[in-house]
Amino acid sequence: MEQETRNSRKNFFFLPLPFIRYIRYTIRCRTSFTPMTTQETIFSKIIRREIPADIVYEDDLALAFRDVHPQAPIHILIIPKKPIPKLADAESGDHALMGHLLLTVKRVAEQLGLSNGYRVVINNGNDGGQTVDHLHLHILGGRHMKWPPG
Ligand code: 5GP
Repeated sequence: MEQETRNSRKNFFFLPLPFIRYIRYTIRCRTSFTPMTTQETIFSKIIRREIPADIVYEDDLALAFRDVHPQAPIHILIIPKKPIPKLADAESGDHALMGHLLLTVKRVAEQLGLSNGYRVVINNGNDGGQTVDHLHLHILGGRHMKWPPG
């Protein structure tokens, strides 16, 4: 029995090196922790400063920056740093964060001088017209908004 164990250990060391490397690589890939890769969006890259954005406000929980295709003279996006894909994915644990995002809207609107009013929009999912899967609040201001929206 002892002889058998010793032999199998010996056999392991005679496995071809490329095969051993392949096994090590496979184990590493399957066990490695790759955080949030499924939720990776252009907004995650903006948070990490990997792509540029005109940032107007930042704190520990949220980031606000100008929309690259503005639909009004002032068009700001407010996002949580936590990558929640859409409003419908927010959970009860996000209660305080959701309140914080709304108060950030108010704060940024004041900062940008939108004293005459503004519109806040959250597009949720496909029918809502959402194109980036990272929850964001639009602030649209600097002109009179029409109703109903298209
Ligand atoms: P949604 O249609 O998902 O509600 O809004 C996504 C918004 O993100 C759009 O208004 C779009 O113009 C904006 N957007 C998309 N990519 C970028 C980007 O790389 N930088 C900035 N600043 N805005 C972006």
